[in-house]
Amino acid sequence: MSPVATDATLQDRAQRFMPGGVSSPVRAFRAVGGEPLVIDRGEGCHLITTDGRRLLDFVCSWGPLALGHAHPEVVAAVTDAAARGTSYGATCGAEVDLAELICGMYPGLEQVRFVSSGTEATMSALRLARGATGRDVVVKFAGCYHGHVDQLLVAAGSGLATFGTPDSAGVPEAFASLTRVLPLDDEAAAEELFRAEGDRIAAVIIEPVPANNGLLPQRPEFLRCLRRLTATHGALLIFDEVISGFRLAPGGAAEHYGIEPDLACFGKVIGGGLPVGAFGGDAELMAHLAPLGDVYQAGTLSGNPLAMAAGLTTLRILQREEAWHRLEHLGSHLEARFAAAIRDESLTLVRMGSLFWLSLQLGEPPRRPSLIDAEAAERYGPLFHALLDAGIYLAPSSYEVGFLSLAHQESDIDRLVDALAAALPTAAERTERSR
Ligand SMILES: *Cc1c(COP(=O)(O)O)cnc(C)c1O
Repeated sequence: MSPVATDATLQDRAQRFMPGGVSSPVRAFRAVGGEPLVIDRGEGCHLITTDGRRLLDFVCSWGPLALGHAHPEVVAAVTDAAARGTSYGATCGAEVDLAELICGMYPGLEQVRFVSSGTEATMSALRLARGATGRDVVVKFAGCYHGHVDQLLVAAGSGLATFGTPDSAGVPEAFASLTRVLPLDDEAAAEELFRAEGDRIAAVIIEPVPANNGLLPQRPEFLRCLRRLTATHGALLIFDEVISGFRLAPGGAAEHYGIEPDLACFGKVIGGGLPVGAFGGDAELMAHLAPLGDVYQAGTLSGNPLAMAAGLTTLRILQREEAWHRLEHLGSHLEARFAAAIRDESLTLVRMGSLFWLSLQLGEPPRRPSLIDAEAAERYGPLFHALLDAGIYLAPSSYEVGFLSLAHQESDIDRLVDALAAALPTAAERTERSR
């Protein structure tokens, strides 16, 4: 078997047997052009493709790999778990340990239910919220992604509070009609909606650190306003911490902002690279779930022993290594190096902890997706490919964030900034070109 040169055939077969050649659309390089990567293995902060390229990885599997690829202790824990059986269809020890650990780390959390993806977590949290409140309407924010849940695949139209229109074919208008879409960063719009139909609203769901449509850090006052409005009107506040949970701080955005949601959704980091999601809240609310209550929720592979072992080991290492200080340090190193090396006014770094985003427009970074300049974002493709040619892998879309992990060193970040600086045409070159 030849180790190299299998890539073309793999690509062809991927395209032939899988729609778009991928199992998740962002993996196809639609936004930047070119062929999607086929990966042979990951090592620390590197990905090695099947055609032998070694890439410095700032995607980190889109967030889960806070320790980088193939951390030896995670690999050992998963291997050990696998040898004892891959699934029991019953509770396992690591599952109880992980539930206890998560509840100890996240503000106000008393119980969690494990699922197998972030999508399942948000979908189930909404059902629980509706079941517990006896109300139907849910509120989301334009630009926040909560997985591919039917009722949440809804984007904002114009106007303040709009009725949801589906963002995807296959989502009936009737499903979306119970979803209200609000703009981020806008207290008045939220207040108006609650005045109009506060007694019908089961829940407000938000990414407290919106990181799926650029990185759009919100003002704490805005999040506090949502906390107050939901509490006043008997609706639940759901934090979707699938990205921010256990990455931004031990207690995620809830700890960072000092705001406790009624329900929180997790995924990504808590699975340490295996398929895990979870949602939780206080015991009284969680008692609405079957088998205790009348809100049904289930999963054949939920709490899977391999996944629990990976998640538990990952969180314990993050705690042991005081990872949150280290990740913040790496993030601020990136910020400082970027500020020193990048002189292009239309490229701004937005950074929160170990999350970063390249905003390709002049002026203050946006806090709402409607303020992102789509034409400016078209400059991203050439930048992405210049970096890829230099052996650096950023997400293949200008709307996706980058991730740092404990496997990254300062020197890796320096390499990223140097490559960015080299890839940007100088102002003189740009003027030359536009002539
Ligand atoms: C990734 C993500 C999800 C969906 O998680 P999956 O595991 O991909 O289903 C939900 N919410 C947020 C904020 C995410 O970033």
